[in-house]
Amino acid sequence: MNNRKKKIILFFVFATSTLIYPCTLFAAENNQNEVEIITPEIADDLNFEKNHSPTEVYDEPETIEELLQEKENTSLNIKPVSKKQLPLTILKEVVQPGELRELSWSAGQSFSGKTVKPPVMVVRGRRPGPVLCLVAAIHGDELNGIEIVRRVIRNIDPMSVNGTVIGVPIVNLYGFTANSRYLPDRRDLNRYFPGNPSGSAASRIAYRFFTQIIKHCNYVVDFHTGSFKRINLPQLRADMNNPHIREFASHFGSTAVLHKSGNGKSLRVAATNADIPTVAFELGQPGSLQEDYVDSGIETINTLIGNLGILKKMHLWFEPQPVYYSSRWVRVNSGGILMSKIDIGSKVKLNQLLGYIINPLTSQQVKILSPVKGRVLGMALNQFMLPGYAAYHIGVFSDTHSIIEMESYDDGEESDEPDNEYESPTSEDDEIH
Ligand SMILES: [Zn+2]
Repeated sequence: MNNRKKKIILFFVFATSTLIYPCTLFAAENNQNEVEIITPEIADDLNFEKNHSPTEVYDEPETIEELLQEKENTSLNIKPVSKKQLPLTILKEVVQPGELRELSWSAGQSFSGKTVKPPVMVVRGRRPGPVLCLVAAIHGDELNGIEIVRRVIRNIDPMSVNGTVIGVPIVNLYGFTANSRYLPDRRDLNRYFPGNPSGSAASRIAYRFFTQIIKHCNYVVDFHTGSFKRINLPQLRADMNNPHIREFASHFGSTAVLHKSGNGKSLRVAATNADIPTVAFELGQPGSLQEDYVDSGIETINTLIGNLGILKKMHLWFEPQPVYYSSRWVRVNSGGILMSKIDIGSKVKLNQLLGYIINPLTSQQVKILSPVKGRVLGMALNQFMLPGYAAYHIGVFSDTHSIIEMESYDDGEESDEPDNEYESPTSEDDEIH
């Protein structure tokens, strides 16, 4: 082979490789992004009305990102491709796209041997999108969340949904039927996540719930109320140190957010540790259904569903979302009957009068003053109190966004403190594994 021929062959090899390699890259990249060039004939075949499989649907752009992507595709003369929404297999059932199914999960055996099966409502949208889970009544006597989950799910049309909404209105069915916060053995279910299949009864229930339901979720909202004759302003409890949770919490309209890193064994912390952004949504008081709190909660969740792109946005909130990076509990220093002079949600100044403790035996009245400037996020109902009882929970106004854990006491879903004050402590220590 002479030099001229060699040069020609080398040039051919070089030219071929320089042409083929970028093409391969281009194809690989396109494959990665699931973009296909569709000819008019193929487009006809994909026509949803004429010829479609039950799981294959045309994905209409809904979000800004998708709209931008479509614009880009249009400029390249590439039609957006239909994406598949697959059926969801959950609790050994298959839920098809466009279906609303009422299932149930097994919490285990009751004492009588009869299986307790709390309901699970699954809305599988026609188009793909995030899986949002709404769970309530982990504490059985907290009723507001039950009604919020029930109404939100009932009012969703699966045919309009991008993604999936899973609703578990009553997690602790044992506690609900007994009008109790706890499980029958007085354990607090929200201290046992993610659970243990061979642990205590609480630990086993937590494990089943976590593996059968929570593992399917991309986001979780866990509904609670104040505990033990206390009321909470609608507010999120969220770990604002976590960027995914910060982003999730920003979708709840103007609902207040209180930063809390959370109890180590709560559902919120366990799900977050499993990379599922989770917030607790506190509203109202236990033991009663509060219509105004339910309405407010439904409005908030519909806003969330719109902001996540699961349904079209229904309305916009114009008020800013307040975030409290720290809070203070105000405890009474003398015993008697609490008589509040402020309402839940009030903004208070330093040393402002919050209420009195009245001793009916001596007619003595003791003022309770606010130790900080802030907003009343939670408060005790007027009731008899011993010295040391927590009466007001104040979200602290702060100029900085530095996160400070001021006091561990929490009336809501996570702290062990209420147990210490009102009930015998429940802990993992007395578990036998
Ligand atoms: Zn609770």
